[in-house]
Amino acid sequence: MRLRGGMKNARCPACLKRLDAATSLSSATPAPGSVSVCAYCATYVVFQTDMTLRQARPEDLEYLSLTAAIELALYVQMIHRLHAAGDRIIGAKPHGPTAE
Ligand SMILES: [Zn+2]
Repeated sequence: MRLRGGMKNARCPACLKRLDAATSLSSATPAPGSVSVCAYCATYVVFQTDMTLRQARPEDLEYLSLTAAIELALYVQMIHRLHAAGDRIIGAKPHGPTAE
């Protein structure tokens, strides 16, 4: 499920790009505490109670399911490969997957 509109003030805390949508790996809508990945710089981020984002800490990732951790890691790898190939994420959706 995609979350739109509730992320008006969501910026990646690392690259400061504005993120206006998120896609959940499950069918659930991202909620406070959900872990996501910035589609621009591949930083792990966490939704806060006001749906802004902060950079994820190791303990945020500790309790992810194995499936969620792998999905997010694959997404991070894909972003790094795009950057390594010199591609820009032009036209790509400005959001990444989110794990509960
Ligand atoms: Zn970023």
